[in-house]
Amino acid sequence: MADTAAGDSGTSLEQRLDAMLEIERFDPSQQFREQALLSDPAVYERAARDPQGWWAEQAEALDWFERWDTVLDDSEPPFYKWFTGGKLNVSYNCLDRHVDAGRGDRVAYHWRGEEGERRDVTYAELHRDVQRFANALKDLGVQQGDVVGIYLPMIPEVVVAMLACARIGAPHNVVFGGFSAESVKERMEFSEAKVLVTVDGARRKGKTAPIKATVDEHMGDLASLKTVVVVRHARLDGVPMTAGRDVWFDEVCAAAAADCPAEPLDAEHPLFILYTSGSTASPKGILHTTGGYLTGVAATHRYVFDLKPDEDVWWCAADVGWITGHSYIVYGPLANGATSVMWEGAPDYPHKGIWWEVAEETRATLLYAAPTAIRTFMKWGHEIPERYDLSALRLLGSVGEPINPKAWLWYHQVIGGGRCPIVDTWWQTETGAIMITPLPGITSTKPGSATTPFPGVAAEVVGEGDGEPIDSGQGLLVLTQPWPSMLRTLYKEDERFVETYFARFGKERYLVGDAARRDRDGYLWIIGRIDDVVNVSGHRLSTAEVESAIVAHEKVAEAAVIGQSDEDTGQAICAFVTLNGEIEGTDELIAEIGAVVAERIGKFARPKRIIWADDLPKTRSGKIMRRLLRDIAEGRALGDVTTLRDPSVMASLESQIKDAQ
Ligand code: ATP
Ligand code: MG
Repeated sequence: MADTAAGDSGTSLEQRLDAMLEIERFDPSQQFREQALLSDPAVYERAARDPQGWWAEQAEALDWFERWDTVLDDSEPPFYKWFTGGKLNVSYNCLDRHVDAGRGDRVAYHWRGEEGERRDVTYAELHRDVQRFANALKDLGVQQGDVVGIYLPMIPEVVVAMLACARIGAPHNVVFGGFSAESVKERMEFSEAKVLVTVDGARRKGKTAPIKATVDEHMGDLASLKTVVVVRHARLDGVPMTAGRDVWFDEVCAAAAADCPAEPLDAEHPLFILYTSGSTASPKGILHTTGGYLTGVAATHRYVFDLKPDEDVWWCAADVGWITGHSYIVYGPLANGATSVMWEGAPDYPHKGIWWEVAEETRATLLYAAPTAIRTFMKWGHEIPERYDLSALRLLGSVGEPINPKAWLWYHQVIGGGRCPIVDTWWQTETGAIMITPLPGITSTKPGSATTPFPGVAAEVVGEGDGEPIDSGQGLLVLTQPWPSMLRTLYKEDERFVETYFARFGKERYLVGDAARRDRDGYLWIIGRIDDVVNVSGHRLSTAEVESAIVAHEKVAEAAVIGQSDEDTGQAICAFVTLNGEIEGTDELIAEIGAVVAERIGKFARPKRIIWADDLPKTRSGKIMRRLLRDIAEGRALGDVTTLRDPSVMASLESQIKDAQ
């Protein structure tokens, strides 16, 4: 049905997309279904009947040095263990087994640099480099269990460093290159990293940031940190190197022995620690282990993206420093022997068509990107991607936040030429791998919905108060059975782990922290975080908490709270409030609402500003569009309003604000 709408020439893209917003579902094309790895819906029943059997089957696709005795050890919930007794090595699974099978010449990464450099790294080359660096780490005194920090840009060495750690059983702690040196220090301190691997300089949009020098300024004296390994990438002059602590990556590799056999590690050996994006309180150090994690990422990478490693060119356009990069740039694709694209830079440098230029040149077949990127491309205009040949693409993925239907349709039409299925994948740092997603050869998709749990995953939407499953309606998302790639704990914070995820609904139900809606077909629509946070003078406040305090006032029907930039307090609470019936907003009422909030939460949480709203802007799936509220509150031009259920709401809100001024 997509094709008919797309083929309707004579109308503008805008009109076509608007018309398509009415289309409720997109069925997999027969052509796609016929070639898909999974096309029989019976897979869901099979996995539901015997989840452990299903996951064991997925684990069998990996190479194990010793087979496990127990698939799932649930004797001490919520500290679940998977494949206990089994021994394996992640780097062996990502490299050796492909090289040993004669696939060493296959390209692992088509790396493309900002200034037009091309480096195609094969599996054999990665295998060689990883062994050398693994030996170098050992020479530097790194032992099994020691934490190694990694603070690198998008260059092949980041993969080498991660796999070298995995090879010797040293958990890595990657910090996203966009984070400040101060947060690197914090994370190194907290995880007691023994070594930090970083870079002389990182390039970004034609400029070079002196990363090593900046790290030095902030790192100070960390008792645990013995060595800083520096990759030469930007070829900066005068990089400060502290004698006795700092070494060059290429030099330690050259000095190290060539052969480093992969260490057989327990299935539950820690693979890495990764801090979440951090919109909530202090950073959560998510701990992932070996066997279950690799099983989860390899299986989901294969089936969600219908990966054919001999033919496909895979491009996950995330940064390695996020979980999406860990699971779907590094571990999933390498475990599956895939060929990937790795793009060093930004989407608009050297020009706004660079992604599409790279996709055309590498003949990328599968693309996985975030809605925010897609919306940016939309803003720049369809004319840009249309200049490139994207005909090799056969499937598109989305991750990171809810994707609004308009962006979904644009992605589908403009990038996917109306022929590529879209997989909107919901998951988290904590879940390690994709949890809720279409299977492209089976699932009918609905723009804006991540659809249903992956086979072997069980999810429910439950009532906030009673925790009872909601058949159709809105509530909190929970995962109701353990899965292999789940986090094992929060690093060195077992209590906080239990408290954060398992206190509210018990140890059998993992509290996701997102609100969701389940529709009549059982499809899941992720609405957003329950802990949307506003930071007022250093106090972190959940918007939902303030909203529920405001709604507690009898005259209030609905409220949406946002953090508005504020000169004095960093952020201030701004509340959009809808009153019951015909009630008029007055100064007296503002004072009363402030008093309720002060009483229930604290004075600091009192809204600095209350805006009376006849209605709140909502998407068609019922999500409040805080983004637009922020635009209004901060007096900016409104962003994309095309997904509003009722566009007139914004106009009336704007006039209400003017009247009040
Ligand atoms: P923190 O937990 O520190 O606040 P974070 O939640 O942003 O950080 P991530 O683990 O990177 O860190 O992000 C996971 C969250 O991203 C999910 O809980 C959800 O809110 C959102 N998300 C991811 N994918 C989707 C998706 N396909 N649809 C809707 N939301 C998504
Ligand atoms: Mg989170």
